[in-house]
Amino acid sequence: MGQSNAEQERGLWKRAGADADTAPKSTNAGGGVTRRDFIWTAAAPAIRSSAQARLLVPVHRVMDVRTQCPPEQLHHFWWSIWPEAVRDFSRGGIELQTSDGRGEVRRSPGDRPIFVGLRRGVINLVLTGHIPLDWDNGRALAGVTTINDGYHVCMVALRYAHGDQIPFLSVNTCVHELLHALLQDIFVSRPKWYQSGGRELRTDWYATWLWLFHDGAAIRKSAQAYLHRLESAVGPRTSLNSPARR
Ligand SMILES: [Zn+2]
Repeated sequence: MGQSNAEQERGLWKRAGADADTAPKSTNAGGGVTRRDFIWTAAAPAIRSSAQARLLVPVHRVMDVRTQCPPEQLHHFWWSIWPEAVRDFSRGGIELQTSDGRGEVRRSPGDRPIFVGLRRGVINLVLTGHIPLDWDNGRALAGVTTINDGYHVCMVALRYAHGDQIPFLSVNTCVHELLHALLQDIFVSRPKWYQSGGRELRTDWYATWLWLFHDGAAIRKSAQAYLHRLESAVGPRTSLNSPARR
């Protein structure tokens, strides 16, 4: 069978990193491998995976009733960002099984979030205006993913959320945050700075793989383990009160 998927991906990661570091600024007169060449070469072995078994991921969408958000931002989210996330996952063999509910993100005096309306045993996708200051630290984050009082939470700031923009660098906010759960970063409560940076790169790498190559094989494998942990954690409460991932 030749190289395993993991071996292929490791090799491609190195190529992608090298390509990003030395990306041609305007021309490719030397005849080297351009980013575009790389992408289409890399796509060939990946596209075949789309016919594999599909995985269902329960996502409970919670709209923060306190959100004061311009109608055009809501429209952009529901008609562009969210459908794109669903499409990206679906092409990689992952179906987002959604439910909806109203909820609230109350703010403590220190601007810590206090959630109302979350469910256990699912990923709670909380849509709010901006990430509370205690989690955001002035970084204008588009999202944070963590376990809060036993609830699995992807909080998305509608003000800063965006769709797929630049491969490997700026991907769909919902895909990025949900991947922090599915790739199990969510269980790391206080990552060191180098761990955090590495996981950011890895998340955008897998998101790009979904977006451009429709390959979710590695994500599905991790997501199965994640869902098992999610289900088994429904009973006893855990408490990780610091945001694990942005
Ligand atoms: Zn992140």
